[in-house]
Amino acid sequence: MKITRYVRYTADGKVSYGVLDGEIIRELHGNIFAGAEPTGKTSKLSNVKLLAPCEPLNVAAIGRNYKSHIADRNIAPAPHPPLFWKPASCIIGTDENIVFPEGANNVHYEAEMVVVIGKKAKNVSKADAPGCIFGITAGNDVSERDWQKNDLQWFRAKGSDTFGVLGPAIVQGVNYNDLLVESRLNGEVRQSQRTKDLLFDVDTVISYITQFVTLMPGDVIYTGTPGTTKPMQPGDIIEVEVEGVGTLRNGIARASTIMD
Ligand code: MG
Repeated sequence: MKITRYVRYTADGKVSYGVLDGEIIRELHGNIFAGAEPTGKTSKLSNVKLLAPCEPLNVAAIGRNYKSHIADRNIAPAPHPPLFWKPASCIIGTDENIVFPEGANNVHYEAEMVVVIGKKAKNVSKADAPGCIFGITAGNDVSERDWQKNDLQWFRAKGSDTFGVLGPAIVQGVNYNDLLVESRLNGEVRQSQRTKDLLFDVDTVISYITQFVTLMPGDVIYTGTPGTTKPMQPGDIIEVEVEGVGTLRNGIARASTIMD
């Protein structure tokens, strides 16, 4: 299948979708999920600001989806895909800061492959799930572990503003059942595993979610993180790379005590 890379970006104060072709972005008119057309205008990648590549209504995420992430905690694999939701407001793109809110002192990275839904999906069978996928992107499911452990729900542990990193592009034509997912903290590899090791594969997860929740074009599913994670500190640089998709690169900052 042909590889196509879609990006969303700001150039000259205007937000557009485009197709990334090497270092050149070919601007599209309209929404990629509804059949966007080339405008003929191009921009250099280095001259634009990349945004999160879509604006999801639903941000679904799976926990405990690699054996390597649960083995050292003595957790048994779940009977169904263990899902939670992140608020759409937490989404940021590459090159933006992940900002620790007040009181957050144990914030971890989680490198993940992310699936982007391409059409309205309800009661989808596993066999039909691939047809619901628009493409694949990368994500960092940023998580405050103390809040995750102690709060009733994970609204702030995994849903604080900037805790959902997404991008840099949505890629069509990659084999999502076998891609390398990697994180690097200040250049040092911290997580590295292939998506063939997912406990619940992508098609199973889409089928399961859509028994209960209708997914819409542009919705995303974070598919889970491998291995063990560590806290990040203000000033760090965290990178998440998904093979064939690209690299998210985000700085870490602490929220100012002065609220705007
Ligand atoms: Mg996660």
